Amino acid sequence: MVLNDLELQTSLKKYFGFSSFKGLQEQVIKNVIEGNNTFVIMPTGGGKSLCYQLPALLKEGTAIVVSPLIALMKNQVDALRGISTNEDGVAHVLNSSLNKSEVKQVKQDIVDGVTKLLYVAPESLTKEEYIKFLQSVKISFVAIDEAHCISEWGHDFRPEYRNLRPIIDRLGEKIPIIGLTATATPKVQEDIVKNLGIQDAALFKASFNRPNLFYEVRPKTKNVEADIIRFVKKNPGKSGIIYCLSRKKVEELAQMLQVNGVSAVPYHAGFDSKTRSKYQDMFLMEDVDVVVATIAFGMGIDKPDVRYVIHHDIPKSIESYYQETGRAGRDGGEGHCLAFYSYKDVEKLEKFMSGKPVAEQEIGNALLQEIVAYAETSISRRKFILHYFGEEFDEVNGEGADMDDNARNPKEKEEARDSLVKLLKVIQGTNEKFRSKEIVKTLIGSTNALIASHKIDGKDFFGCGSEHPKEYWMALIRQALVAGYLRKEIEQYGILHVTEEGEAFLKAPSSFMMTKDHVYNEETDNAIVGATKKAGGVADERLLKLLKDLRKNEAKKLDVPPFVVFQDP
Ligand code: ADP
Ligand code: MG
Repeated sequence: MVLNDLELQTSLKKYFGFSSFKGLQEQVIKNVIEGNNTFVIMPTGGGKSLCYQLPALLKEGTAIVVSPLIALMKNQVDALRGISTNEDGVAHVLNSSLNKSEVKQVKQDIVDGVTKLLYVAPESLTKEEYIKFLQSVKISFVAIDEAHCISEWGHDFRPEYRNLRPIIDRLGEKIPIIGLTATATPKVQEDIVKNLGIQDAALFKASFNRPNLFYEVRPKTKNVEADIIRFVKKNPGKSGIIYCLSRKKVEELAQMLQVNGVSAVPYHAGFDSKTRSKYQDMFLMEDVDVVVATIAFGMGIDKPDVRYVIHHDIPKSIESYYQETGRAGRDGGEGHCLAFYSYKDVEKLEKFMSGKPVAEQEIGNALLQEIVAYAETSISRRKFILHYFGEEFDEVNGEGADMDDNARNPKEKEEARDSLVKLLKVIQGTNEKFRSKEIVKTLIGSTNALIASHKIDGKDFFGCGSEHPKEYWMALIRQALVAGYLRKEIEQYGILHVTEEGEAFLKAPSSFMMTKDHVYNEETDNAIVGATKKAGGVADERLLKLLKDLRKNEAKKLDVPPFVVFQDP
């Protein structure tokens, strides 16, 4: 089947009301219509759905769309029904939410050739009953949306996504496959192509640069809640999402915002689905400005004017961070992505992972290492993210080049060549048996160090790094890990090794410019406390008391008017 450009344009207008294709859509659609395997990598909001919806409407037969979430499917089906002239059957969902007579109706519509798109969850596709039925009808192609669910290296691994290929093979001969994802890491791409067996697929990859997003990382101190409230209050009436790791923190922070006069709702998977959709709708309909949420919130949310996304805790990977921040500024307007970062959080996540199977830990730690590097980097954050996705970015002339904190306020760096030599020698000299903390204790000559008085090159090295505080050494270790001079043993949880690159460095030490983030942390702590005191006098104490009371779940009984705790000086 071949359509000329005009016919394609006409159908785009007719079915979707759009007058032009976005990005690579047209090329993708042509490829799908021709019946080839196709692999589409486009950032969220790039317009992936159309890449299979339009071909499905134009081709003979029914297209099967595999999608991970019932809510996502429902949204799409509703939208499709809206566009087609009163054809209720043009798109259907087939999943566990249907009763017997509904399933019958779906099947009838498919047999009648009315249904052009059939949305299924991967679990449903494993059902013999459905396989048998689908074998008897004409399938135009299979679209696998959110295809990164196939990969353990993706941000949303679903084991049931891994069995799709054999099932598709059973449905009919040479059914074309189109995989779509917003996950661009080379590892995930490789997994998808291999698992789906579409090595021959034409790859369509769009740029992941979001030039209207501003990226910023701030040190996370004990005042992080206050910092967030202050940020939110500085942006009155704007829509924002605040992500927290734990449900408890979600509820706490939402309450704190409410008490401070901000309209906010909490959202996490602990609420029942009715409550969840109520809060989600309140946010979408702009009854509230802010949603405080765990990562359970956001997939498939298409609110164009989210003006900021704040991370109270560090996300588990750059991938997740990109996805979550990607919900800001969909309309092309302002979108501030602010992450609070403390290395303590990383250690918490590491500890949390240490209970998991080794393979999973290894992946988790590797991903975590990357986000640590992002948080600590002094280069353009946009360049860092795009590099992670295998994309070059010109940090001087590229689009959005000045849109991050590092570009606007470059961090100070210092020469750390000699320190790095000491560090690597101490690690080697103690036979690569110790974790960061212990190595640092030895370097600074701490009295409670396990390792004392070893000699390297005939010299006692205990305390050889006492000219720097422990924060300095911890930062150097992190940066040396990122630079590849050190490696952490994952199976023995955190033991440090010198890599080949590290050994080469020791043989011929060259410059190692280290970012001064260790000093920056402590000073900012004090600066924030100082500023708060100046602005609101006892504000800090009041908030602390409030926090305590909230923790005891006495928020409602508190006799506090919605007051402004924080004002910027
Ligand atoms: P993705 O799945 O890549 O995240 P969607 O398919 O959900 O993106 O599309 C994102 C938005 O872009 C939707 O609101 C959709 O209607 C819109 N869109 C898609 N294609 C076009 C187009 N050619 N012209 C205008 N808007 C489009
Ligand atoms: Mg999509």
